[in-house]
Amino acid sequence: MKDKLTLMIPGPTPVPETVLRAMGRHPIGHRSGAFQASVARTTAQLKWLHQTSNDVLVITGSGTAAMEAGIINTLSRGDRVLCGDNGKFGERWVNLCQAYGLAVETIKAAWGQPLDPSAFQAVLEADTEKRIRAVILTHSETSTGVINDLEAIAGHVRAHGRALTLVDCVTSLGATTVPVDAWGLDVVASGSQKGYMIPPGLSFVSMSARAWEAHGRSDLPKFYLDLGPYRKSAARNSNPFTPAVNLYFALETALEMMQAEGLEAIFARHARHRAAAQAGMKALGVNLFSAEGCGSPAITAVDPGCDAEALRQLVKNKYDILLAGGQDHLKGRIFRIGHLGFVCDRDVLTAVAAIEGALLEMGVACVEAGAGVAAAARALNA
Ligand SMILES: *Cc1c(COP(=O)(O)O)cnc(C)c1O
Repeated sequence: MKDKLTLMIPGPTPVPETVLRAMGRHPIGHRSGAFQASVARTTAQLKWLHQTSNDVLVITGSGTAAMEAGIINTLSRGDRVLCGDNGKFGERWVNLCQAYGLAVETIKAAWGQPLDPSAFQAVLEADTEKRIRAVILTHSETSTGVINDLEAIAGHVRAHGRALTLVDCVTSLGATTVPVDAWGLDVVASGSQKGYMIPPGLSFVSMSARAWEAHGRSDLPKFYLDLGPYRKSAARNSNPFTPAVNLYFALETALEMMQAEGLEAIFARHARHRAAAQAGMKALGVNLFSAEGCGSPAITAVDPGCDAEALRQLVKNKYDILLAGGQDHLKGRIFRIGHLGFVCDRDVLTAVAAIEGALLEMGVACVEAGAGVAAAARALNA
């Protein structure tokens, strides 16, 4: 049905009506007092979301721009870095580091499994000469629906004493707690089309005092993404270049909504939706792709044991819900339910119902009509 398609993919995520209305106006001058006031307010809101007193800078670009900014602003040619890789976005970090000629060592886990914090601990403890400059990983691995134990890994990095922690929190920020100061996260990258509930186009990067020290030494080439000028102009509530002005209107409005809901309530909602999606799938007799106990609060990856692309098409064409497919070797094998950002109980319940209907239509043997919805409803009420 026209205009009815509901996004349940891990970005872009649904945008509240209030936010769309905030964007739907003429842009204002980006050097005007009115815009600077907006920058001042969003800066404070972003620090609240990141639970930090560090700088949180706004870049016009997608989430990967913030990731790239993190690398090129804190590292130097030939630096040794340790990358966690257990999915498509872990791989992106590795590719990005290699593009800048860093000496990358990886700690891998199979897709669907979480990274093992003790593997990081072992490599970091063995580095007695303190040559590892950064530990780089993805908090919520969107491609597999796995959340990594960032708190434990960051703890091992702090014990090392020299390396920085650089994290992709693109699908964890706004879905689960990312206490940047408490966990000592030096660089945190995120993007607007995920937990922020606004359209794609802005990315965010937080920089600790240690990250800024490293910026002073960093010799990797940079211009548009050199965070030095961003920091300087942020002190005057401004930007070095023309920012996506209307997306700032959206950002301020969305963050106001998030502040009204409260961090704890937002995280609890995402945890409940993860529980409902997982319970619904299990009751339908299909397998979760992520290992037990490490499902992401933003996304549930499902291995239905049948043609996942056919199922996804059926859910889209018949029920007007867009699920995400599998990436790379998982294409056709898994589908992913995004429950990140502006998502309510109804969305999750309907998604489970639609998947149930599609599985029944496809004649997948194990499915008992109503079982998925019943289990999801119970999880939502728990
Ligand atoms: C969406 C996403 C990104 C950013 O991708 P862009 O397309 O550059 O916005 C990075 N990491 C993860 C884990 C993501 O889910």
